[in-house]
Amino acid sequence: MAGYSRSIRDLIELLTQLPGIGPRTAERLSLYLVHHQPYARRLAQAIEQVARRVRRCAICNNFTETEEICEICRDPNRDRTRICVVEQPRDLVVIESSGAYRGLYHVLGGRISPLEGVEPDHLSLDHLVKRIHDQQPEEIILATSPTTEGDTTASYIVELLRDLPVQITRLARGLVPGSGLEIATADMLVNAIRDRRPVERPGR
Ligand SMILES: [Zn+2]
Repeated sequence: MAGYSRSIRDLIELLTQLPGIGPRTAERLSLYLVHHQPYARRLAQAIEQVARRVRRCAICNNFTETEEICEICRDPNRDRTRICVVEQPRDLVVIESSGAYRGLYHVLGGRISPLEGVEPDHLSLDHLVKRIHDQQPEEIILATSPTTEGDTTASYIVELLRDLPVQITRLARGLVPGSGLEIATADMLVNAIRDRRPVERPGR
């Protein structure tokens, strides 16, 4: 992008690092921001706030900002006997918006994927085990995505929790296979949560 001044070149370069943004789009967005300075300042502030304030909940690994513990973990009206295990915060948001679940969550931070170099160590699994020991919930609901990696992750967790006195259930099939939870409709999720089934655990 020779010909643009230094700060525009820097902005284009930074935007190109965002997922799904190529050099042409980055250039177009940068020029838009140059031409719309009040908006550019608001955007910069919003990005700064997110970067400075948002962190992970010390209990469930969801996003939180004003407190060390997220709103859901702090909410006294949630059902504390259930923990729903999801891959990412956006899966939690999808399940929350279905309105079908009032328990707690545990955000893994991804799913096991040898191809993408994601190993069990990269997920908040130790933390999940500790939580089950400490809080003694009655049920762990596995809501990993209906993909091969999601299934692998769910099987790994079943094995990991094998000796713990907690019931493990899995969302019912009926979600769109091969995709994330985010494309499921609210109805599909309501059904998948209502019709969740106990996971068979060998040796128990
Ligand atoms: Zn939390």
